[in-house]
Amino acid sequence: MNDALAPRTAVVLFTRDLRVSDNPALDLACGSAERVVPLFVVHDGLGFAVPNRARFLSECLADLRDSLRGRGGDLIVRHGDPVAEALRVADEAGADGLVLARDVSAYARRRQDRLAEGCRSRRMALRMADSVTVVPPGALAPAGGDHFKVFTPYWRAWTGHDWRSQVAAPDRVSLPAGIDAGPLPEPPKTSACLPAGGETAARRRMEQWLRAGLGDYASRHDDLPGDATSRLSADLHFGCLSALELAVRAGQAGGEGGDAYVRQLCWRDFHAQVASAYPDLPRRDYRPRRGAWRDDPEALDAWKAGQTGYPIVDAGMRQLAAEGFMHNRARLLVASMLTRQLSIHWTFGARHFFDLLADGDIANNAGNWQWVAGTGNDTRPNRRFSLLRQAHRFDPDGDYVRRYVPELAGIPGSDVHAPWMLHRQPRGYPPPLDGADASLGVRARAEAPSP
Ligand SMILES: Cc1cc2nc3c(=O)[nH]c(=O)nc-3n(C[C@H](O)[C@H](O)[C@H](O)COP(=O)(O)OP(=O)(O)OC[C@H]3O[C@@H](n4cnc5c(N)ncnc54)[C@H](O)[C@@H]3O)c2cc1C
Repeated sequence: MNDALAPRTAVVLFTRDLRVSDNPALDLACGSAERVVPLFVVHDGLGFAVPNRARFLSECLADLRDSLRGRGGDLIVRHGDPVAEALRVADEAGADGLVLARDVSAYARRRQDRLAEGCRSRRMALRMADSVTVVPPGALAPAGGDHFKVFTPYWRAWTGHDWRSQVAAPDRVSLPAGIDAGPLPEPPKTSACLPAGGETAARRRMEQWLRAGLGDYASRHDDLPGDATSRLSADLHFGCLSALELAVRAGQAGGEGGDAYVRQLCWRDFHAQVASAYPDLPRRDYRPRRGAWRDDPEALDAWKAGQTGYPIVDAGMRQLAAEGFMHNRARLLVASMLTRQLSIHWTFGARHFFDLLADGDIANNAGNWQWVAGTGNDTRPNRRFSLLRQAHRFDPDGDYVRRYVPELAGIPGSDVHAPWMLHRQPRGYPPPLDGADASLGVRARAEAPSP
């Protein structure tokens, strides 16, 4: 940056880039300003409305504060409207610059627009850094369109695109004097057993994953009982890890595992660029689907409670309730059951996921729900998973079901997937919601790869 234009004091408004390593917003501020005010504004209505994410987030903030203090700075914490508080802190610090990570949700974009307005009226420079995804949404577009609607051409463009360079964590953060740091939010109690939040724990998990899990990812990512995926989704959602760093390192590790993993990170970018181009993604069908939706509150409640009588679905829903996490294959199946078998609108399922997932993410959640419901970016919008066939394929011995559905713990092997076929019905476990649908196992057609 031209020195004459460089701010003397810059506020870095952290949002979901809660890390010091490879954080372009923090790097930009520390590289150009004499004094830097790292700020997080707790907006009670947002991430903090969901206990599982609130717990994780409050640990992220504690860890970020430690890292910044270790560099001579601090994390300033305020409560309220992020825009009003950011501008108030900027005034308090006499800041002439504000930096934040650009994001895609409708909420984030309103926040960016309001910040731009506030900065303009103060003659303060606003700079935005691209750090939430590997490739910024909007950087790639097909001929004649503003975003990619189909994954495979996006993947080709994404892999051929130049990625930005990573930036190092700053050695020092020089905070102006006299700014009260403010208390960290209290972590709420949750019933889910969640991993520890924060960059330090996330980096430990990443190293362990790259060393010991990545190599088998291609062959084991759909192994439901094996639980052999990285479980880094909440770390990525809150930006405790840089998606770019992870993609670069997985790519360098190479092999089938590395390649398959980088492809999943590309799905994350794919949904972000769809959400950026279509901000209504969490509320409205991206494209129309054939077939009517049904209103069935009882079935919806049974689905939420893991009481549908379909063991593979109930196991997934109970994993979600117990862990604030669900395996991707189970997410696909429970979403398929809700939107295809029960014909209940995907927004009800997406809402329930969003209320419980520690990795709950506007773009990934809505994008995947719409994909399964046939209103999104699947090139085969009429795809219907065979629950029984999928259960036998991805949980062949029934261990995943028995782990989460104790009423079925006494049923050996794969018989656990169809308790309605047994002579004696397992006590305390419901019959299938709409009667045992034998066609569940028969109707399956060749199933194309899913995300
Ligand atoms: C109905 C439904 C809802 C979903 N809701 C969310 C959500 O709210 N938040 C979320 O992060 N993911 C969501 N996903 C995507 C995926 O299920 C999770 O990212 C994944 O299960 C997280 O576990 P992991 O970190 O072990 O994944 P891994 O298999 O280890 O994958 C590595 C990373 O790649 C990304 N990724 C993997 N699969 C997908 C995918 N299909 N779409 C986008 N990114 C992907 C994630 O960031 C993930 O952490 C949803 C999927 C479905 C089918």
